[in-house]
Amino acid sequence: MSEQVKYLLGEDRIPKAWYNIVADLPEPPPPPLHPGTGKPIGPDDLAPIFPMAVIEQEVSTERWIEIPEPVREIYKLWRPSPLIRARQLERALDTPAKIFFKYEGVSPAGSHKPNTSVAQAYYNKQEGVKRLTTETGAGQWGSSLAFAGSLFDLEVEVYMVKVSYHQKPYRRALMETYGARCIASPSSLTASGRAILEKSPDSTGSLGIAISEAVEMAVQRDDTKYALGSVLNHVLLHQTVIGEEAMLQMADADVEPDVVIGCAGGGSNFAGIAFPYLREKLAGRSHARIVAVEPTSCPTMTKGRYAYDYGDTGHLTPLVKMYTLGASFVPPGFHAGGLRYHGMSPLVSHVLHLGLIEPKAYAQTDCFAAAVQFARSEGIVPAPESSHAVKAAIDEALRCKAEGKAETILFCLSGHGHFDMQAYIDYFAGKLKDVPFDHSALESALAELPMVAE
Ligand SMILES: *Cc1c(COP(=O)(O)O)cnc(C)c1O
Repeated sequence: MSEQVKYLLGEDRIPKAWYNIVADLPEPPPPPLHPGTGKPIGPDDLAPIFPMAVIEQEVSTERWIEIPEPVREIYKLWRPSPLIRARQLERALDTPAKIFFKYEGVSPAGSHKPNTSVAQAYYNKQEGVKRLTTETGAGQWGSSLAFAGSLFDLEVEVYMVKVSYHQKPYRRALMETYGARCIASPSSLTASGRAILEKSPDSTGSLGIAISEAVEMAVQRDDTKYALGSVLNHVLLHQTVIGEEAMLQMADADVEPDVVIGCAGGGSNFAGIAFPYLREKLAGRSHARIVAVEPTSCPTMTKGRYAYDYGDTGHLTPLVKMYTLGASFVPPGFHAGGLRYHGMSPLVSHVLHLGLIEPKAYAQTDCFAAAVQFARSEGIVPAPESSHAVKAAIDEALRCKAEGKAETILFCLSGHGHFDMQAYIDYFAGKLKDVPFDHSALESALAELPMVAE
């Protein structure tokens, strides 16, 4: 364990700083570009939607960024999150491998997302913001921001993709319990929503549309900002509390991981557990393989192209260099809603491009089978997103068995599935199908990538 890691430890075992991997990368990540000018964007371009403290973190090259004391105070509600050895699963698999998981489902919203929502709400409050807007798909992020808003007395307005708004009433009820306003998107409250409704009154919505609505509401009012729950550098930064804690807990257990695994939608919980270990690896202090897992139906890292692309379907966001399926690619409906993004975080994409991490893709029915096996041995029902990491961990443990190796596996269980039981009902009823990946849809979405001179 490095000196820096020791320095981070508070008496109560919650790290005192987040870790910024940009400080240690062999080459800097390519800059985000302005969609109009094609020039690198500056802090001023982001000022209408994010508070300055968050923008500074977005572009920071400092290695350690102190966690404000009020944020650490709130982290104490559920942090440090448990590091659990999956002994029952090891027994069920009859593997010589040791399997550990870092369980982020103990947070109030049931996932890792409050690690960043609390920090973002804090910085907005510090800068006098009164209201936050955001979008949510399945509702994990919306409820995490709603929770954080309630603690800092901020109004929270969540644009929830209409089909989920109707299909997931419990997530909506959770947001409302925390005092947030939840609006089915597309809505008639915004110009972008009205434009969609005029063309297709029955639109069931999409994340791209919900983002446009939330951003539009944020730029209109001085007292309102926007918050994003994945993908961006500052979000990944806040999630490193997961890996820093895990490293300490693994040291307490006197073990070092040979493999570190996380599921990746936008990349934030994966980066959270992996980037601290990647630092150790780059410094020659760890030999761990680092594995990012995605669904075969939205295979950004394994089938996408590393290119500049828009973050949204409406082409309002900066151009970022990332592994992408093309902003117009629509993944087929499947239940791991949090893994449906067309791109991958620029920082995760960069380390993948540099060959520092391994990507892996699994079909959803295989992931549900793994999740059920996990639930029947460890008792915890994984979120559908997290089941991808569970599947990868089980595969690694079975490889260890075949090779007769007693390796140590560490994975992030990013959340529980208590609000996703309909997906389990559908799985048991045999209704979940693995749709073959549509290569022609990918080709046409990639053909629409913006032309960027590099
Ligand atoms: C949102 C979510 C994800 C995917 O987001 P990342 O930014 O890739 O971590 C994964 N697991 C859970 C439980 C989620 O809620």
